[in-house]
Amino acid sequence: MLINLSELFTCEGKKKEYTAETTLSSVEFSGDTYRILKAEPFKLEIESRTRNKFFMSGCLPVTVEAPCARCLEPVSFECVLDFEREFELKKDASFDGSLDEEPYLEGYNLDVDQLVCNELLLSLPMRVLCREDCKGICNRCGANLNYQTCTCDTRSLDPRMSVIQEIFNQFKEV
Ligand SMILES: [Zn+2]
Ligand SMILES: [Zn+2]
Repeated sequence: MLINLSELFTCEGKKKEYTAETTLSSVEFSGDTYRILKAEPFKLEIESRTRNKFFMSGCLPVTVEAPCARCLEPVSFECVLDFEREFELKKDASFDGSLDEEPYLEGYNLDVDQLVCNELLLSLPMRVLCREDCKGICNRCGANLNYQTCTCDTRSLDPRMSVIQEIFNQFKEV
């Protein structure tokens, strides 16, 4: 969804409330895919501060699903995007792709999907766990240790240790 901001140019201090909606289905974050399960339409208030300076605020609860960092089972959780941002529109509409351009601005339009994507990336947790004490999966047999036990020798579970062990074995064979 694009919101055309040109109607706010006319007078300073003009405020408008939009019903914004996103069709974003997922975002990529630190190598994982976060699926968006639910995002209701939300109120987005935009105010023109000076000629090209704008201020916007909105609040939107999003239900996200991501794999547990330890056992990889999908976990769904709610992430509330509560934001206030000031941004500037370049009067010459030629989009030059310069770095200080906000990614959710396209000429005079505000791209709601990009905005939600941006806000999500800022508020997603660094690590998702299905539960605090998730036991993860055995990295030898792949068993989910929350549901079953395995008989693997877990003494060399640490992959760094097994590398050292391997080097050690190579020396022994020579
Ligand atoms: Zn887990
Ligand atoms: Zn195992």
